[in-house]
Amino acid sequence: MKIPHGFYVRIKKILKPFRAFIFKPPFTNDAFNKQIAEEHKVTPPFYPDSLEKYITRISFEISNMCNYTHIHKKCPVSRYTDKKKLETSIVYKVLDELALYNFCGEIDFHRYNEPMIDTRLFEFIEYTNKVLPNAKISILTNGSLLNQEVIEKFEKYKLWHIIVSSYTFKEHERLIKLKTTIPYKVYYSRLDDREDIYNRKEINSKLPCYATIRDITVNCYGDISICCLDWQNRFVFGNVSSLSLKEILNSKQFLEVHHELFHGKRTLGICKRCDWQR
Ligand code: SF4
Repeated sequence: MKIPHGFYVRIKKILKPFRAFIFKPPFTNDAFNKQIAEEHKVTPPFYPDSLEKYITRISFEISNMCNYTHIHKKCPVSRYTDKKKLETSIVYKVLDELALYNFCGEIDFHRYNEPMIDTRLFEFIEYTNKVLPNAKISILTNGSLLNQEVIEKFEKYKLWHIIVSSYTFKEHERLIKLKTTIPYKVYYSRLDDREDIYNRKEINSKLPCYATIRDITVNCYGDISICCLDWQNRFVFGNVSSLSLKEILNSKQFLEVHHELFHGKRTLGICKRCDWQR
């Protein structure tokens, strides 16, 4: 039986005060906590003159593959039949463009993919360190390929943090024992019901959403989609292989959505069904 999304949201609200007792607290080091506190102080502007300068996070979906698809049937990656890698030249093109603005926000190499299965990951990190020395590289991984040797390899680069979503008690116990100087967090992850986002009832939330600045994703085809929830890539605004990031983010269509979302006006089909605020 399929549980309606509204029921899930209500249960989540009821259980919220008891979460710390129900779930084992995640392993988090002090450096990570400080970082998160700093991040929450940032308030993006409403009408920026040129949107690309105000991005706080950009994610590269370097592939649409994950080594856990066989056990995570609820994850969007398990639905992708067309296996695809984002072209290396596109990653470099966007990083070079961000260097023009001296980008110092967050850079990710994941959406629903597992970044560590991609042999180009260290190459991308190295290039980002070179052209964007002030950018904050974040690694989100399922931890399956992470061990003491690999985490020490990461220490050779400038990384903002490593976050691991572990899925079993055994993996969690193994991963929290890894030692690193990089801010590092391991938490238990539960897959939510986002795969049905397109079919939910409209909620028509009036809450503002900052995804147009805080959740810019270059998907594995090179398209800029509305946000990470759009796993079927239905709401895309342009492709960075033929256009610059600046051109896409300052296009009439993108700016319209940006201004609407900032004012809590959710006009896109996916946004009408969403209760998130990015
Ligand atoms: S309202 Fe939801 S679907 Fe729309 S951009 Fe924000 S997070 Fe994404």
